[in-house]
Amino acid sequence: MTARSEVTAYIGLGANLGDPAQALRSAILHLGAIQGVRLLQSSSLYRSAPVDSSGPDYINAVVEVATTLNAPSLLTAMQAIELTAGRERPYINAPRTLDLDLLLYGSAGIASPRLTLPHPRMWQRAFVLLPLHEIAPVLVPSKALNAVAGQACAFSASSGLV
Ligand code: AMP
Repeated sequence: MTARSEVTAYIGLGANLGDPAQALRSAILHLGAIQGVRLLQSSSLYRSAPVDSSGPDYINAVVEVATTLNAPSLLTAMQAIELTAGRERPYINAPRTLDLDLLLYGSAGIASPRLTLPHPRMWQRAFVLLPLHEIAPVLVPSKALNAVAGQACAFSASSGLV
């Protein structure tokens, strides 16, 4: 059997309950431990005000991975990590212990009930574009950064990881 070649993907992480920085660091380690996923880069941790949500500020980050999994399988593995982190969904956009979004999977464009790629809201969110720009500047044109410049989002800490 031929080995599947690797695809570069970007995953957005966010949390605003409990110890969000610790939740993100732990989630990044879990992402790197998925079979068929190699962690390539992690952005710093950013602090952002809730958008379409409530509660304390969010901590956000973006990681770059190389994966042999297809996009739906990668999303399934990500959702298992969310569950491990104790995420509950009492209502839409509720505060969360961990939210993982598949932002980009190679150049794939997908519009299925379960998975939309690129992530449909990534270009409207400073908390996605700032960390993504940090690790993959060519993917985020300055026009896109300017469009979200009014949103409260700033460096919070190094991830201390890759
Ligand atoms: P959220 O509550 O924002 O984490 O949304 C989770 C829901 O969005 C799940 O039902 C996913 O199947 C769906 N979804 C669609 N596209 C994506 C994507 N690119 N990344 C993560 N979840 C997605």
